[in-house]
Amino acid sequence: MTSPVWHPFTQHGLNEPIPLVTHASGAALHTADGRRIIDAISSWWVTTHGHNNPRIMAAIAEQAGKLDQLIFAGWTHEPAETLARSLIEIMPSPLAHVFFSDSGSTAVEVALKMALGFWANRGEPRDRILVMQHSYHGDTIGAMSVGARGVFNQAYSPLLFDVGTVPFPADGREQATLDALAEQCQQKPAAFIVEPLVLGAGGMLFYRPEILAEMRAICAHHGVLFIADEIMTGWGRTGTLLACEQADIVPDILCLSKGLTGGSLPLAVTLATPEIFEAHRSTDRAKMFFHSSSYTANPIACAAANANMEIWRDEPVLERVADLGRRQQVQLDRLTSHSKISNIRRMGTIAAFDIEDATGTYLSAIAPRLMAHARERDVLLRPLGNTVYVMPPYCIDDADLGAVYGVVTEFLD
Ligand SMILES: *Cc1c(COP(=O)(O)O)cnc(C)c1O
Repeated sequence: MTSPVWHPFTQHGLNEPIPLVTHASGAALHTADGRRIIDAISSWWVTTHGHNNPRIMAAIAEQAGKLDQLIFAGWTHEPAETLARSLIEIMPSPLAHVFFSDSGSTAVEVALKMALGFWANRGEPRDRILVMQHSYHGDTIGAMSVGARGVFNQAYSPLLFDVGTVPFPADGREQATLDALAEQCQQKPAAFIVEPLVLGAGGMLFYRPEILAEMRAICAHHGVLFIADEIMTGWGRTGTLLACEQADIVPDILCLSKGLTGGSLPLAVTLATPEIFEAHRSTDRAKMFFHSSSYTANPIACAAANANMEIWRDEPVLERVADLGRRQQVQLDRLTSHSKISNIRRMGTIAAFDIEDATGTYLSAIAPRLMAHARERDVLLRPLGNTVYVMPPYCIDDADLGAVYGVVTEFLD
């Protein structure tokens, strides 16, 4: 019998196998037919400490016995209060206000609405958003609008709003980015939204912290709000808690999701400075922040995030991250002699390289071939076009990491 399930980013007409996973632990997924699959992409960048982390699972179970769900407009609960306080403690000042939502895309929509609300409530309405070439911020209409245009959103393009785009600051071409940003800032846009240091879905493209710092300074100089989308880069992925730390900058608005619950339950937050919060605070109800989703700050998801915060507080997470980075580098160094690959790169726990391919697009034939090759050998990989990346949970051991690269090397050969 065929399944009624319609999967995301899946072409059902190709009838590719869809493995049925029954349970997971650490870096391993276990399928109904008894296979042990190594999760080399952290289940699409969400799993940080490992699947079914015992501390997070225990927190979920405990909270499930107390309070399942609560309207969050005008009501509150302990898991959300605790989480907001812990976030403010660990995230850089002056980020001081936490708005909850339930996915990365929604956190981005909230950030954009906060930016426009900020200007509208100050009586100086602005509506233009600046973005970086090749960026990705999610799949809802607003998030797609501020992301790169391509085959994945072509059909919806009539609904996408117009944005100003600055070129990606590739090595040696950074000045063009900075010049374009400074020029576009003169048209008084509401905000600039950017993925700090790593453009994930755009192909694991890296740029230097100095450029991030300069972009932040340009926005500050022109009074343009700076939105950092750390949905992928946050929670240690790039070697530090936030990628922004490496540039020693603080955004006006910060989006977090994915690793916020250790990758266990859907939850997102958009953090804002007092200035942005105060622009919405008034005795005038027309100035409140008009956004909510039903599951905003779901108590069970907040409890999972609180357990994640405790893990960050009392386990050596950054040491694990550094260690995984070193082990990734050892594996990458073995690939350098391979003639078919280029742009070998690593940032923190993220390792990536490109396979030579004439088309070089998202629909490059290499991705599905490598994905199938890896799946048949019990490894979960999902290249972005001709870009292969390995981004495992921080707990992956040497044997599993070696097996992942073994499968990749075999494919390249
Ligand atoms: C994954 C991602 C998003 C979207 O998050 P969802 O939870 O999938 O909606 C937004 N921005 C970046 C940088 C991402 O990697």
